[in-house]
Amino acid sequence: MTYRIGVLSVQGDFAEHIAAMNDLDEVEAIGVKTKDAIRSCDGLIIPGGESTTIGKLCRRFGLDEAIGALHAAGTPIFGTCAGLILMAKYIVDSDQWRLGYLDAEVKRNAFGRQIDSFETDLPIVGVEGGQARAVFIRGPYVTRVEPNVEVLATYADKIVMVRQGHLLGAAFHPELTDDRRVQRYFLEMVKAAAQ
Ligand code: GLN
Repeated sequence: MTYRIGVLSVQGDFAEHIAAMNDLDEVEAIGVKTKDAIRSCDGLIIPGGESTTIGKLCRRFGLDEAIGALHAAGTPIFGTCAGLILMAKYIVDSDQWRLGYLDAEVKRNAFGRQIDSFETDLPIVGVEGGQARAVFIRGPYVTRVEPNVEVLATYADKIVMVRQGHLLGAAFHPELTDDRRVQRYFLEMVKAAAQ
């Protein structure tokens, strides 16, 4: 059985996500930028990039509607960095457009100018085998979650990875390392939802 995982490909580092997901045997990862392509997916990744630009392009091509249909059907969606920002219901000091599925508040470019981009090792709940390398690039963190949101990872007391049912969000870039355990975690969500 092969699971089709779409990577939203309107802006940002979608190519790295497609390559990383395709490292997994049971996955066919493809770039998606049309409504029909999005609807055909068993799981969707919203990559890092610039959240305002990705949001704008989503609406211009009517992709928000197709992504909303996946969400309503319980299809797993994984947002990384800008993708996490787009998935959040609340964004500190911003009225930018968002998908707004995740019962959480995020702050953009939250780690400050001094350390806006950095790498670290993080323990992640549900990811076995020790800490995972996490690359942050002008990333957000999560400032508040509602009780239905599970915190999977923190860095310096800030929430950087969350899950709410079929929704997964990371403030960092798991596609920029050789470690595929986070991709495997998402694949397990996709498999469970496809049953
Ligand atoms: N700073 C970007 C934003 O606010 C996110 C950065 C990233 O995705 N690497 O949209």
